[in-house]
Amino acid sequence: MSSVKNNISNVLGRIRVAAEKTGRLADDIMLLAISKTMPTERIEEAALAGQVHFGENRIQESREKIPQLPEGLIWHLVGHLQSNKAKYCPALFEWVHSIDSVLLAREVSHRYREKGKVCKALVQVNVSGEKVKYGCEPSETGDIIAALLEEEGTQPVGLMTMPPFDPDPERSRPWFKALRELRDNLVAGGHPDSSLKELSMGMTGDFVVAIEEGATIVRVGTAIFGSRG
Ligand SMILES: *Cc1c(COP(=O)(O)O)cnc(C)c1O
Repeated sequence: MSSVKNNISNVLGRIRVAAEKTGRLADDIMLLAISKTMPTERIEEAALAGQVHFGENRIQESREKIPQLPEGLIWHLVGHLQSNKAKYCPALFEWVHSIDSVLLAREVSHRYREKGKVCKALVQVNVSGEKVKYGCEPSETGDIIAALLEEEGTQPVGLMTMPPFDPDPERSRPWFKALRELRDNLVAGGHPDSSLKELSMGMTGDFVVAIEEGATIVRVGTAIFGSRG
């Protein structure tokens, strides 16, 4: 049985190799440990191994688990956010990866501002057409970035995507490339570079390919914690 600690160092090793292969620095790529469904003991194991950034996908589960975990961990919401749940986010998450409308951008901002906080926000984009459920259309991305920038409770930091599941990671490559090109086009179109620095893409099955295509944040669950059963 491999421990969480061994799994993390294995994933970090693969990140390093993928980064070097494409002439990038491994330090510029954040490993975000996706701890959804995992009990707090497993998450503590990862924290003891030095892991700092963790991602959850459900508000209810986050409200139960996060307060039980040590302070100093940095939490990211990576799952769909209903706007009536945004009020729970400031107490839980420093980062939200799933902003997919101007309305949600304004609601999230309002809730963070109310608490005197600023949310690091990523726009979730559906780059693959109708095959996935959440995420904005590529053509809407610029308006959402602009709204996040204009509001005081949010700081846009980049884009996120979650392509349809495919066991062959090469089949995800075009979607990762599409997200990078969308970012490059937005910057070329005048959106500030600093609001589009991060590309959150790649999971257990395809994070190496995602790094090759420019990922700066990889969201890895299974390769760290084992299968969710
Ligand atoms: C579950 C999840 C992941 C991690 O998936 P693994 O295949 O277990 O690495 C990444 N991103 C999101 C949005 C998820 O919901």
